[in-house]
Amino acid sequence: MPVGMDLEAQKGTIMFVKTKGIVLRATDYQDQDKILTVLTEDLGKITMKARGVKSSRNTMKAACQLMAYSELTLLEQQGRYVLTEASTKELFMELQSDLELMSLGSYFLQVTETVAQEQDPAPELLSLLLNMLYALGTLKKPQLLVKTIFELRLCCLAGFLPSLDGCGKCNQGEPEYFHILNGELYCAHCADLCNEGIRMPVSRGSLEALRYICYADGKRLLSFKISDKALEELCSISEAYLCSQLGQGFYTLDFYKTLLYGVKS
Ligand SMILES: [Zn+2]
Repeated sequence: MPVGMDLEAQKGTIMFVKTKGIVLRATDYQDQDKILTVLTEDLGKITMKARGVKSSRNTMKAACQLMAYSELTLLEQQGRYVLTEASTKELFMELQSDLELMSLGSYFLQVTETVAQEQDPAPELLSLLLNMLYALGTLKKPQLLVKTIFELRLCCLAGFLPSLDGCGKCNQGEPEYFHILNGELYCAHCADLCNEGIRMPVSRGSLEALRYICYADGKRLLSFKISDKALEELCSISEAYLCSQLGQGFYTLDFYKTLLYGVKS
């Protein structure tokens, strides 16, 4: 058995990688370790082992908590990553100390984890997540506003850009409904004729905001005005649209809604 050769071959593949990333999921592993799922700038979503980070004396402890955004040094061998150094850039402390904000932020993390691909860089997705967490915490923007922007924009990035020009059936009538499964607008007449799938009413105000969020420059996502009533309407649409297009619900979303609206009997 050419054992020596095998070892040499394995040694050759060890390398150090530097990148930045945000922790989407942190799972305890053995006594002192954690397994982290991280959305990184250069490698997309990756899983890494962080050794000894449950100890209070470990300098990487803060960087290994949920939502922490850090500069990371990783040791990579045959597609496996071990965290060797971390310098924290943002912990989103305002969110960590508020149960409601933390649960909404956790929903953002879970959705991002669902959409992000292993080892496929997604800089726009990373920047959307960071900007929306910053908007919730530091900028203290209204939760429902940030939630609806995140949900719609994430759908667009994940390949589910809705069709928002006019009525998707006749292309003539004034759009008054949004078809959740088809991701298109219907006029009242065509919505009446359509007998499958959920159509949700969309007012002029929420349609304007819907178009803005889907088409705006990523740095100007928060620069529009919307009435409370239109925001409420848009929020129902964006949540239904995201869950329908991704084909699943999210336990973090259920928990957030329980905090907001109480437990349904
Ligand atoms: Zn029509």
